[in-house]
Amino acid sequence: MNREKEIWRQGPDEAARKLEAHPESGLTGAEARRRLAEYGPNLVEEAESRPWWRILLAQVANFIAGLLAAASVVSLLLGQEVEAVAIAIALLLNVAIGFFTEWRAERSLEALRHLGMARSRVVRGGKERQVEASELVPGDVLLLSAGDLVPADARVVRAEGLTVDESALTGESISLAKGPDAVEAIAEGETPENMLYRGTVVAGGGARCLVAATGMDTRLGEIAKLAGEASGGGTPLARRLERLGRRLVFLTLAVAAAVAALGFATGKPPFLIFETAVALAVAAIPEGLPVVATIALAQGMWRMASRGAVMTHLEAVETLGSTTVICTDKTGTLTENRMTVRFLSLPDGGEEEPDGKFSDPAVRALRAAVLANAAELGGADEQPRGDPMELALLRAGREAGLDRPELLRSHPEKRREPFSADTKMMATVHRVDGDHRAWVKGAPEAVLAACDLEDPVRAELEKRQDELARRGLRLLGLATKAMEDPGGDIYQNMEFLGFVCLEDPVREGVVADVDMLHDAGLRVVMVTGDHKATARAVAEKLDIIRSGDPDPHLGSELADLDSLTEEQADELRRTPVFARITPERKLDIVDLLQRGGQVVAMTGDGVNDAPALKKADIGVAMGKRGSQAAKQAADVVLTNDDFTAIAWAVEQGRVIFRNIRRFVVFLLSGNAAEVAAVALAMALGWPLPLLPLQILYLNMISDVFPALALGVGRESGDVMNRPPRDPSEPLLARRHWWEMAGYAVLIAAVCLVAFVLAGTTRQAASEAFLTLALARTWHVFNMRGPEEHPLRNSVTKNPLAWGAVALSLALLAAATYTPLAAILDLRPPTGPATLYVPLLSLVPLAVVQLVKSFWGKERNE
Ligand code: ATP
Repeated sequence: MNREKEIWRQGPDEAARKLEAHPESGLTGAEARRRLAEYGPNLVEEAESRPWWRILLAQVANFIAGLLAAASVVSLLLGQEVEAVAIAIALLLNVAIGFFTEWRAERSLEALRHLGMARSRVVRGGKERQVEASELVPGDVLLLSAGDLVPADARVVRAEGLTVDESALTGESISLAKGPDAVEAIAEGETPENMLYRGTVVAGGGARCLVAATGMDTRLGEIAKLAGEASGGGTPLARRLERLGRRLVFLTLAVAAAVAALGFATGKPPFLIFETAVALAVAAIPEGLPVVATIALAQGMWRMASRGAVMTHLEAVETLGSTTVICTDKTGTLTENRMTVRFLSLPDGGEEEPDGKFSDPAVRALRAAVLANAAELGGADEQPRGDPMELALLRAGREAGLDRPELLRSHPEKRREPFSADTKMMATVHRVDGDHRAWVKGAPEAVLAACDLEDPVRAELEKRQDELARRGLRLLGLATKAMEDPGGDIYQNMEFLGFVCLEDPVREGVVADVDMLHDAGLRVVMVTGDHKATARAVAEKLDIIRSGDPDPHLGSELADLDSLTEEQADELRRTPVFARITPERKLDIVDLLQRGGQVVAMTGDGVNDAPALKKADIGVAMGKRGSQAAKQAADVVLTNDDFTAIAWAVEQGRVIFRNIRRFVVFLLSGNAAEVAAVALAMALGWPLPLLPLQILYLNMISDVFPALALGVGRESGDVMNRPPRDPSEPLLARRHWWEMAGYAVLIAAVCLVAFVLAGTTRQAASEAFLTLALARTWHVFNMRGPEEHPLRNSVTKNPLAWGAVALSLALLAAATYTPLAAILDLRPPTGPATLYVPLLSLVPLAVVQLVKSFWGKERNE
């Protein structure tokens, strides 16, 4: 339903009538359910997911299926019924396997789309409640506040200081004021002032609105529909693989043609040549590459999500693996954000712990901490609400008999200056016995600067502030002043009351993660709003600062990047800690590092962090603390705000990319081995070592299953012992092509050796086939990382790889010892061949293990 066009011209009441909505009590639960059934879920699908029959159709109508069908028909015409049926079965199996893999890929993607969905605040049945954003219906009463992502198109009915960033729709990043009044006309390209659109972000203030359109009926939905029709879909990686595959089709056809020409030249029967060429083409065309890559990516994303890192799109996985710097905030990510007040440090130098026995000056100081506070502890059966640091202050206040709600009765609050990153303070003004008084808490240096102090006292306090911060404590300054004019300037000529020192324990396991990331060639940079000395102490505890690193820098020192000399910029790039950083400065840090060629991951949670998250190569938003605006801008959302999940995501990003590389190398080299064996035998004028149906059978048993097993392997192996991947490097670098050629030559060689040893007869061909098939089965174990143990590595620890090997062996046994053998023209090995066939098949494995162990170490996989 999109009644938007009519409703912005009318006043709020008329609009509500049009939408059959009640701005106060909202829809009833039953009515909401009815409308959900009528209008469908509030989802914008970027691309419609494909139904099963479309997937099946794609398998039937492709080049390989065409080739096989043609081969089957030609066989039939030439009176080769058994061949014709066998090829038809191969065709069916090919279609089935293709369908199975692609269907799985599609399902994995679909499941991912529903991850990390947002929740919205609505009023239903007169009560405020949270619902999944996907369950919103037209007519719902929606409550929005700063930082929220607008989940549907909605008509504003009440607003308080509401501003909205519509850059997601218009591309222009300016905050627009919005309000409930009727609008007569709007200029081209503008949006009505009383309408909010899905995908835009509430920059400030709050609003009550009525949902006007949901899902694909929203403006964003309409745009997505158009965009979906225009774009080809698929991730860059899948597209690259598709291009690679297409190029290989031509190569394969050329080789097949060459093999056929050789066959004619050496006088082989034309039908055999035709079939062999078709079988080779079918075997060597890597049709499954993009699909297996999609499964590998999707499965990897599931694994990440299960450990608390939800990727917002598939492409980010690729970038994650080549990340070189992780910039992370401190509070809540590296630390637990579980604050407790350790002690008060009073102006006279005395320290008092919160043990219920406070002196008068301590109670005076705590009163500031309790009054200049935006949190609520609540009653016995209520959840505390607000910032953990402020809650810790309220708890300490209670110990001293200062309960905020009670205090407010004798000190009613008259004015509030919320905490701002600019002043780094917050203040409240209260009425006390007919007069007004302000209380302030904030960053210690900011509070000291706002206080009236004698120079020596100021110097002593500044020294003390540094000493306390160096102990890793989080400090706040407290101050007060009488206000003649309650609306007047607060932050000057104040009386200093003391410092309150809080402790926030570091998260368990972070030290180990930081060390692991360092070993993997990544740098971890702490970017915090906290005091320099506190930041340094925590960073030292976590191993983020190491000997030889430059000193922590302050945000104010970053002022003008363009005027830095190259040396200064370099030093900043090596700096492990940035303190007193505002969100705008985060953007500068990303810029600085990117100009130095780094691939940067940056964390953030506030609305103002969104630009830095967008600019970073990997934006990481906090799932719990983070605003929806930050989540919208991010590539990764951490469900538990936990640093460990970032480390894990980087590791998985590398694992996924490595897996994709591995199965591509595995598939291409194995197929090339078959082509090489046949082509060489033809060139040498020998009989064929592999028959067409055998090639087709081999293609079935040793391609898809081992490749899938490699693609979804979980073991990290040695990925974190090597430097990050160069993002400009192609999926297959030159060294991979050489590596694949090496594998192909080795496997083809043992096949031909077995053929010659047995005298190039029909019996010999069977043995050559078995040697090649076994060698290809073991080939999966060649895919270990060069730094991994030959026996205990990421492939041998992958149960699916063993499953694929067992399946291959079982199918090979079936091909040799059951009636299938007659169709495939296979005979069991006899005499010495029972020994040398398995032995020869192990030769490539042994050679590769030796080469990897002695020469492969320095190389990247
Ligand atoms: P991080 O960036 O790691 O989360 P942070 O919480 O210290 O660290 P900011 O939120 O930017 O970063 O806060 C900067 C400083 O302002 C804090 O170190 C603290 O001294 C002060 N501060 C933070 N929150 C409040 C508040 N609610 N009231 C008063 N002062 C505050």
